[in-house]
Amino acid sequence: MTTATFLLAVMLALGLIACAAAFRSPRAPGKVAFILAVVCALWWTAMVLLRFATPDLSEKILYSELAWFGIIGAPMFWATGILSYAGYRKLGTPAAIGAIAVYAIVSGMAALTNDWHHGLYTGILNAQRPTFSHGWLFHILMTVTYIFMIWACISAISRLKMSQSLHRRQLFGLVAAMLMPWLANFAFVFFEFRLFNDDPTPFAFSLTSLAMLMMQEHGKLFVAPPIARDVIFKVLPDPVIVIDGEARVLEVNPAAGKLPGLGDGAVGTILPDGHPLRAWIARDTQNDSRLLTVDEIESTFEVSVQRLEKWGSDGSVMFVLRDVTAREAVQEQLAAASSDLVIRLNENLALQKKLAEEASRDHLTGLYNRRHASKIVLDCLDATGPARPVAFALIDLDHFKQVNDRFGHDAGDNVLITFARILRDQMPTDGCAFRFGGEEFLAVIPGINEIQMLALTQHWRDLLAEEAPDLTPGFQLTFSSGIAIFPQSGSTLAACTKSADIALYDAKLRGRNCDVVWRDKPNPLNIAS
Ligand code: GH3
Ligand code: MG
Ligand code: MG
Repeated sequence: MTTATFLLAVMLALGLIACAAAFRSPRAPGKVAFILAVVCALWWTAMVLLRFATPDLSEKILYSELAWFGIIGAPMFWATGILSYAGYRKLGTPAAIGAIAVYAIVSGMAALTNDWHHGLYTGILNAQRPTFSHGWLFHILMTVTYIFMIWACISAISRLKMSQSLHRRQLFGLVAAMLMPWLANFAFVFFEFRLFNDDPTPFAFSLTSLAMLMMQEHGKLFVAPPIARDVIFKVLPDPVIVIDGEARVLEVNPAAGKLPGLGDGAVGTILPDGHPLRAWIARDTQNDSRLLTVDEIESTFEVSVQRLEKWGSDGSVMFVLRDVTAREAVQEQLAAASSDLVIRLNENLALQKKLAEEASRDHLTGLYNRRHASKIVLDCLDATGPARPVAFALIDLDHFKQVNDRFGHDAGDNVLITFARILRDQMPTDGCAFRFGGEEFLAVIPGINEIQMLALTQHWRDLLAEEAPDLTPGFQLTFSSGIAIFPQSGSTLAACTKSADIALYDAKLRGRNCDVVWRDKPNPLNIAS
């Protein structure tokens, strides 16, 4: 056994292993074609092996002719496999595989019947190997096979660019595996390059088998084939539209068919003026709103714009639209609900303020009530501090019961209202009047002393006397007051009102219609009557 036959036998075994491995691997595009390519290469190798083994020239010629089934089948099936893997799925169908098989069989038959037509070989150049002079059919078969292989190479390489790294490696490996026997055959046919004094192609085909084994082992060949890319465009639920600079529709996916002007037959046509997408051709979505509303179908889309200058003609743009109608509707509802909520909240706040205001005021006179006095006066005392006096005057209308009894309850109410108005109108800016009880009022005025306070009570008394004839004809309206000065009369609101109350009591005792200032012992200072 020569080294060459030993090597060929090893390669035969390698081819068988590659075939078995491919059989076991999952279904993938081009798998059947790759297996058939290896089978053809095995056949070719086997024929070369047999040719080596026999000394008989007629047998050698027979094996050379039989080899043609593989010589044509191996590259054609390999190229078919690459094309299927690269995306030409139709080449993986039984009909296409069958056609390639018929082509290989016809080529083999043509070789076997060469004696009748001499199309393949015109004569024997070297009886030892043997080598032949080539006829017209040889050149046709070679040209067809080479063209097919060149097509496979170009397609695979162009697909390489847009593939992910794993698929890129797979396609690169498949092309490289095809190039090895091809280059060997090219060198043999055109440059008489020989290995073991014979055609080096079968040897090189074993490298193809080896490469396929390696790719299955390490490159996930057949396990992770590139199958989805072509389908994505079709099944994508988002409309995808490609338009050139003149608004001519270049490509649309089925999802875009529901958009106006983009249904069947839209490709190649120019979008009419006013079509919603026209405005987006020159638009910069980085800065602009990304929403497109299509009134005809009452839908809103979020638009992503991809400029295709690099891949397509100048100015062409790819739009990917996402239907956000539902999202936008929900957002609108949310915005409406939240503005409604804000309105209600403001109404609530206003109501609360009104309620708090009402709760702090006396309904009849509109003055602050006693409860509110504690809050305001405490703040007032805190703000002024002991260095600044605060005058308190507790005022009680004299013989008010008699007013009610003589003039009626409503007239009594009017007196209360009138006196409250006098207090409010004649109050210094800092001061504040409260209705403290039935016919009792409290005036709190920061920054004045007892003399100034007494002057004020006298002023109010005079004004009340002026109003009296209208309110209580024939009855003299008067009041008594007890005056306390913070901090001398007390250091708290309670202490001050208590002192003022004691002074008021004293004023009543002294015959009413007078003001008494609280000191350790209250003294009458101003008796008006
Ligand atoms: P004195 O000079 O001692 O204060 O005598 P007076 O009659 O004013 O005092 P008294 O406490 O005996 O009576 C107070 C009266 O004020 C009794 C009550 O009916 C009346 N009064 C209290 N609140 C109101 C009110 O809102 N409207 C009216 N019309 N009368 C009221
Ligand atoms: Mg009273
Ligand atoms: Mg009274």
